Amino acid sequence: MKILKVFTLSALMFCCVACNSGKSQLEKIEVVFQEDSLKFSEPQKIFISELIHISEKEVRNVLPNLPDSIKVIVERVNWDLDRVGGVTGRTERNSPPTIAIQLSNSFRRGIVDSLELGIRSTVFHEFHHLARGWAIYDNKFGYGIPNAMVNEGLAVVFAEIYTGYISDANAFTDEADSWVKEILDLPLDASYNKWVMGKHPDGRTSIGYRAGNYLIRKAMKTSGKSVVELSALKPIEIISLAGY
Ligand SMILES: [Zn+2]
Repeated sequence: MKILKVFTLSALMFCCVACNSGKSQLEKIEVVFQEDSLKFSEPQKIFISELIHISEKEVRNVLPNLPDSIKVIVERVNWDLDRVGGVTGRTERNSPPTIAIQLSNSFRRGIVDSLELGIRSTVFHEFHHLARGWAIYDNKFGYGIPNAMVNEGLAVVFAEIYTGYISDANAFTDEADSWVKEILDLPLDASYNKWVMGKHPDGRTSIGYRAGNYLIRKAMKTSGKSVVELSALKPIEIISLAGY
């Protein structure tokens, strides 16, 4: 496996002009391109790095508890990610703070510029998880699909509001109210793949994301709180604010 670390010239310049806190912008974000089979060109790396650095600054402005020294692993994959704008991601660890994003090589014939919205939206989503401590390997939350529904819902709504990018994959219908109730009744060991991100045997997809999107918007409406204000609360408090 070949891993290239890329610190772009633009990032250096960005640091020089924008960093007056005494802490270098480079210390806050490290972009690593993982090129197992599919490579990135140098201009693509610069484009992606700049997008990530700009997104990080925007997220930190509204979520100041976003950890420092975040590692962002960027990978090019042959997966079909059309339904999510050609980009997906995951928050791997809180310590050291690490996220990974995968860019589809097949989305709009592999033109990386067309992934701009998807990259921004994914970075906002995963950084929101980091700010709350919702990570795969050292998660700060307990088991259970309700916690996943709340944390994914918060990240979906946060990314939609702050980037303007809305994915059909996270959309909900009037049925979402009963989906939330279904999730709240699930046993602690219910299948994550079936109930949160994968496909349920009855044909529904991404139930936790869609129900979470609905739940957070309902909690915002009933409490008058913003998604950032809700993001400081525990899942049980948010579920209660939404009226469940
Ligand atoms: Zn997520």
